[in-house]
Amino acid sequence: MSEKVIIKTENITKVYKIGEIEVHALRGIDLEVNDGEFIAIMGPSGSGKSTLMNILGCLDTPTSGLYLLDGIDVSKLNDNELATIRNVKVGFVFQTFNLLPRLNVFQNIELPTIYSHKKSNNKLKKIYECIEAVGLKGKERNRPTELSGGEKQRVAIARALINNPAIILADEPTGNLDSRTGEEIMAIFQNLNKQGKTIILVTHELDIANHTQRIIYLRDGLIVKEEQVKNPIIAEEILIKMPKLEDKLVEKISSN
Ligand code: ADP
Ligand code: MG
Repeated sequence: MSEKVIIKTENITKVYKIGEIEVHALRGIDLEVNDGEFIAIMGPSGSGKSTLMNILGCLDTPTSGLYLLDGIDVSKLNDNELATIRNVKVGFVFQTFNLLPRLNVFQNIELPTIYSHKKSNNKLKKIYECIEAVGLKGKERNRPTELSGGEKQRVAIARALINNPAIILADEPTGNLDSRTGEEIMAIFQNLNKQGKTIILVTHELDIANHTQRIIYLRDGLIVKEEQVKNPIIAEEILIKMPKLEDKLVEKISSN
């Protein structure tokens, strides 16, 4: 039985024009991602990772080439059509969380449902499911300023999940977090992936990429290497061995 392909790109290019100068950010990307896959994109700064994520996430369109997302040809859609597809098919998680500071946790997570005009019968239930899935029960009324970095990223993940997207795109989601918190976030992604979510994650760290199933290497706008991760790191297993923040504090106090 062949697996369902959720993302397929053929020879995607992206040229940015700044006045007379053309920047060839992507120079022919062929990529296939199966439904339920968890992949990482790595590559040096400027290699085109964010440009590719923006196109995969329907924030931007390619200069040329084909992009099928869940069977829909999105390479030729106009801005309005693109926004509609994006809202129902894609969940984004960013390095800087991008939460709205005046809204509390519940309201931040609810936000994408307001734009998506979905029937609201199950909305409340869905919001609480997402809050539960990222371990934020009890924090519903907190504002972002009252949360740690890890908690903020959990809110962002819940917000990404709320419309039941076909894919989750995460651009350096652990980049601003300490290593234990980053590991906790990877545990959440691995759990979501186990439940069938397709996840594409950009990272600079091989340790983080090794939590996924496949690593794609970009350089100068091209895929230069691709490898299957033989034994992905299991975040839950690492977490058991890692000291908790409270443990570290106790150690410090008792050694003083
Ligand atoms: P990465 O995320 O791997 O660091 P980017 O996709 O951000 O790489 O950038 C790829 C190339 O495209 C770089 O040379 C960058 O300067 C250029 N670039 C990215 N976005 C724009 C833009 N909006 N306008 C002009 N050039 C851009
Ligand atoms: Mg980038």
